[in-house]
Amino acid sequence: MKNKRIFLSLSKQSGFEKQYIQKAFDDNWITSGGPNVNDFEKVLENYLGADSHVTAVNSGTSAIHLALVSLGVGIDDEVICQSLTFSASANPILYQRAIPVFVDSEPETWNMCPENLEKAICERIEKGKKPKAIIAVHLYGTPYKVDEIHAIAGRYEIPVIEDSAEALGSSYKGKKCGTFGTFGVLSFNGNKIITTSGGGALISKSKQAKEKAIFYATQSKDEAVHYQHSEIGYNYRMSNICAGVGLGQMEILDKNIDSRIEMNHFYKEIFKNVKEIEVFQTANDDFFSNYWLSTILINENKNINRKTLRLAFETANIECRPIWKPMHLQPLFSGYPYYGGNVAENLFTRGLCLPSGSHLTEQEKDRIKEVIHNFLNNYNS
Ligand SMILES: *Cc1c(COP(=O)(O)O)cnc(C)c1O
Repeated sequence: MKNKRIFLSLSKQSGFEKQYIQKAFDDNWITSGGPNVNDFEKVLENYLGADSHVTAVNSGTSAIHLALVSLGVGIDDEVICQSLTFSASANPILYQRAIPVFVDSEPETWNMCPENLEKAICERIEKGKKPKAIIAVHLYGTPYKVDEIHAIAGRYEIPVIEDSAEALGSSYKGKKCGTFGTFGVLSFNGNKIITTSGGGALISKSKQAKEKAIFYATQSKDEAVHYQHSEIGYNYRMSNICAGVGLGQMEILDKNIDSRIEMNHFYKEIFKNVKEIEVFQTANDDFFSNYWLSTILINENKNINRKTLRLAFETANIECRPIWKPMHLQPLFSGYPYYGGNVAENLFTRGLCLPSGSHLTEQEKDRIKEVIHNFLNNYNS
């Protein structure tokens, strides 16, 4: 019989989810918004601290879109975006018929490179258009260089949208990711560190910004008993059932983070004597990563080949994938400006994401270990 598939990232249930869902049924709130949604927002606000105001929505992508709408990004406006990310960071720029301007990564955090960010800003301003927003990403749970990026954004007075979809629970110098930008974004998709089955959140700095986001997320209804609209609206609010799942999940968020960090140690131990393979680690204590995914970089030579390792995992029915393909190399985004060199591209061609789920059993870890050991032994013999 074939082994059960081990995925890169699967959520784990706390066991409390069903009670909150039951409450949604008991309250007869089987719709978007409602008591669970309000409670879920409060729990997140307490967790994030730093006077955060949270709007729960139906996906992380919607949250990014709402951030752009809230900042007034429109036709032909330019928005700077980290190139090395998942396409959901950049797609909402196109929803607004705005123009993405992509920026390379730096090698320490793999996130937006401050030098190239500043170069992009200066050149866009020279060309006559100041960027309307900057979308920076905490990739794989590792905070970007917050001080440097926000100092530059502040100097040119450009708001930052912090794509923290992969980084709930991560922090920089003790402050939670998602709370640095004018807006922060979380995702509760099924593969993230916690799930609502599908969902996201927009983190704002004020009650007014939160209320405006709720306004947009619920069809932009003006104050009137009849339905009246002066602005474009969206149907983006989180469902009361999904928020119930989220409330249950919040009870094990810290445990999930512990086990993701443990997976990072697990890989560090396995690869510790392999000079061609480097397990990604944060640079210093300023950066606290939830290690949503553990990643490795491979220096290929005649002995060690990335594709062979990936296929060995696949044969054992274990998911393993290259790093995100940078946006400036995607057919969809090929015509847009790009600032940088080949750092992101190099990470894409050398990197692999390894199974990092919060739920992996000892048996599953043994299966992973066996694949890696066989792969390494084949080359040593
Ligand atoms: C998952 C993800 C998103 C989108 O979140 P969804 O909830 O799936 O819409 C955005 N940005 C990054 C970096 C992500 O990993």
